[in-house]
Amino acid sequence: HKYSAEDIKKMTVDENVEFICLMFTDINGIIKNVEVPVSQIDKVLANKITFDGSSIDGFTRIEESDMLLHPDLSTWLVFPWGSEHGKVARLICDIYTTNGEPFAGDPRVNLQRIVKKMHGMGYTNFNIGPEPEFFLFNTDDKGQPTLQLNDDGSYFDFSPVDLGENVRKDIVLKLEKMGFEVEASHHEVAPGQQEIDFKYENALSAADSIQTFKLVVKTIAKENGMYATFMPKPLQGINGSGMHINMSLFNGDENIFGDSNDMLSDVAKQFMSGILTHARALTAINNPTVNSYKRLVPGFEAPTYIAWSSKNRSPLIRVPAAKGKSKRFEMRSVDPTTNPYLAIACILDAGLDGIKNNYDLMPEVKENIYEMSEDKRREEGIVDLPSTLHNSLKALRKDEFVQESLGKGLTNSFFAAKNEEWARYQQTVSQWERDTYMPLY
Ligand code: GLN
Ligand code: MG
Ligand code: MG
Ligand code: MG
Repeated sequence: HKYSAEDIKKMTVDENVEFICLMFTDINGIIKNVEVPVSQIDKVLANKITFDGSSIDGFTRIEESDMLLHPDLSTWLVFPWGSEHGKVARLICDIYTTNGEPFAGDPRVNLQRIVKKMHGMGYTNFNIGPEPEFFLFNTDDKGQPTLQLNDDGSYFDFSPVDLGENVRKDIVLKLEKMGFEVEASHHEVAPGQQEIDFKYENALSAADSIQTFKLVVKTIAKENGMYATFMPKPLQGINGSGMHINMSLFNGDENIFGDSNDMLSDVAKQFMSGILTHARALTAINNPTVNSYKRLVPGFEAPTYIAWSSKNRSPLIRVPAAKGKSKRFEMRSVDPTTNPYLAIACILDAGLDGIKNNYDLMPEVKENIYEMSEDKRREEGIVDLPSTLHNSLKALRKDEFVQESLGKGLTNSFFAAKNEEWARYQQTVSQWERDTYMPLY
């Protein structure tokens, strides 16, 4: 919705709003929140609320740590859950420097930069339909998450209705109240695993919606005495949680990813060639945690190789049988620990690079890659995805184009955060190692 400052003021009164959450997202994809009482509304609308950026990951600037919050009025919504202190509304913000410039280190500002680049190439919309998956765990007496799942259902299971089912329904109803258009929601393959898909939106709105979605899921699960996690692989031996990213490029009302026969258009194929060309570096952004790589292994419906297919689900990119406005492809590697602003910016920019440079697109793969021999894969030129965070960071180091999609500041803070995370993990001695090596050596 396009709201004016007047509209917002009126809605705070009409809906009895007591607090306003000013939300933004740090480099790790974590939602940050500056909460102000409604008495500050004029200051909020005048873009005059400041916060200390030096304590936020990725925002550190030595000379100047004060940052300004510029709320995007179109993101106004009132949370549908109660508060004993009155209703809470939120506005998603862009970060500005005190010089009045958009802060290049803000992932949301950066996504808008890449969207502008797309407009400059003559396209109006990059539409994104995400498919986030998550697990619901039981909690203990103290409300802490356990590793106990509440059901043993699986894909599209219908009955018996379990607690997870009810929690998911509650989440969907709350999402709809908040203006989400939920297209599908179902039990996923693994026990305790759920998926909720919402209708495609333009790049910026989709990233905003993903952030809001995670907040809603966690809040409603908690209200129901459960713990929701978007960690990609909480339990070994069963499927992990991904967040497939369905994408298409629009010119006005027209989806230009489809041709007159409802096949992928040339533009779509060029776009895809850009993503495949930059796929290894993109993995660092799309799968940014140590745990992400425990999901990207063969046998659990997550991709491990760089390839595309309309036939099976083992490759990185799948082309669903869809027509007209829904013609699209999905990138299957992405998981919900990604910062959606960074992920969508980098995917879009890689796609635009494909359109510009018209890279050779590898032929479609029609067999299950999990079952191909190594020789056969080599013959077909199928390269694997990085197998660890360390390897994907190395791939990002080599890919200057993707670093440019982030800009210098975000690239530096991304490497700083992730190198440190990898080092901490690498220095951890696990129980697996003791169990394996102590008896032998
Ligand atoms: N959970 C699988 C993954 O890790 C996806 C399963 C599916 O949606 N078919 O990506
Ligand atoms: Mg799905
Ligand atoms: Mg799924
Ligand atoms: Mg999918």
